[in-house]
Amino acid sequence: MNKIEIQNVTVNYTEKNKSFTALEDVSFSVGTGEFVSVIGTSGCGKSTLLSILEGINAPSKGTITIDGKQVTGTGTDRGVVFQHYSLFPWMTARNNVAFGVKQIKKGISKTDRLNIADEFLEKVGLENFKNKYPSQLSGGMQQRVAIARVLAMDTDILLMDEPFGAIDAKNRTILQELLLNLWEGGGIQEKKTVVFVTHDIDEAILLSDRIIMMSGSPGQVYKEIRVDFDRPRNRAKLVQTREYGAFRNELLSLFYSDIVNKIGGSEVVL
Ligand code: ADP
Ligand code: MG
Repeated sequence: MNKIEIQNVTVNYTEKNKSFTALEDVSFSVGTGEFVSVIGTSGCGKSTLLSILEGINAPSKGTITIDGKQVTGTGTDRGVVFQHYSLFPWMTARNNVAFGVKQIKKGISKTDRLNIADEFLEKVGLENFKNKYPSQLSGGMQQRVAIARVLAMDTDILLMDEPFGAIDAKNRTILQELLLNLWEGGGIQEKKTVVFVTHDIDEAILLSDRIIMMSGSPGQVYKEIRVDFDRPRNRAKLVQTREYGAFRNELLSLFYSDIVNKIGGSEVVL
């Protein structure tokens, strides 16, 4: 059964009496326990899409349902990770995670939420940093805390908006593998349903069961592509296969053919 159904969603923003269509007639679904990436160029409406899934923004037209129920606001079934680490600067890593847990599991005792925080900080390799404040942690470490927090919250759905976009290339690959391993069964209670926004094709292929490729101005679904590589996936092995190279090339050409269509040119210089 599908966990999330996005049906004919249009989002208009109004600024200075002018209306701007950020998303137009977007429809797709996400199965229970499925990992779906949304990929598209900057400004094509990816964050807008995530904000309506989160429930902080409402569609102008169309509907979103989760488990068959229409989304009308935020909910404890959804946890979010943003590109900017969004930790509370006045709380230690441990308290940031424990606070997230408290938001979802109302009434949980302090000991229990701190124990859960410790468990998840260990899963992301930060057991020795739990008493540090965000300003004492690198960007990559802060994003590990954000991941620990969202996993500790144990929501059915994870919404991730370019979570590794601000991280340097080496740490990005480490974090991608961490998320992949946790999601594929190395540490989360059950498989989460994930909507993961990125503009990185390799990241999308490595992590996803399916890729929703968007085109921009206004944001629309351009293509849906299944990613059928076996799991558990191993990046080093996967990228060496001929199938990976061919698939990646196919995705890249789709991605750029859309841009060529949109700008009306015949050639794109990379
Ligand atoms: P992406 O995440 O793909 O980069 P966004 O969803 O952030 O794209 O933005 C899509 C488009 O909507 C952009 O042109 C952006 O400028 C515009 N936009 C986003 N948020 C607002 C807003 N609150 N008011 C007006 N326009 C917005
Ligand atoms: Mg964005």
